[in-house]
Amino acid sequence: MSKKYKIVHDRDICIGCSACASVCPKHWFMEDDGKSSLYNHIKSGNGEEELLGSNQNPLVEDFEDNMDAAESCPVNCIHVYEINDKGEEKELI
Ligand code: SF4
Repeated sequence: MSKKYKIVHDRDICIGCSACASVCPKHWFMEDDGKSSLYNHIKSGNGEEELLGSNQNPLVEDFEDNMDAAESCPVNCIHVYEINDKGEEKELI
């Protein structure tokens, strides 16, 4: 069984430098509010606060691209978790 990964984006910390969207345009894009987002993300919070919460894109198989995005982030607001067969999560970055 292939490994699964979860990507978490803490948008509160994002400074909108666009590095993640540059190195991993398949998964990341810049929003109108100047910050980045994951395609197909799940927004937390509600109303106008929605974009300020952490974005989670669970069970991503495209691991390397998202690690590149996380490593490019100057404020470390992209986190990558490995999920094992038991559903246990291990933070990689
Ligand atoms: S690299 Fe980090 S700070 Fe820059 S836009 Fe992406 S998430 Fe935001």
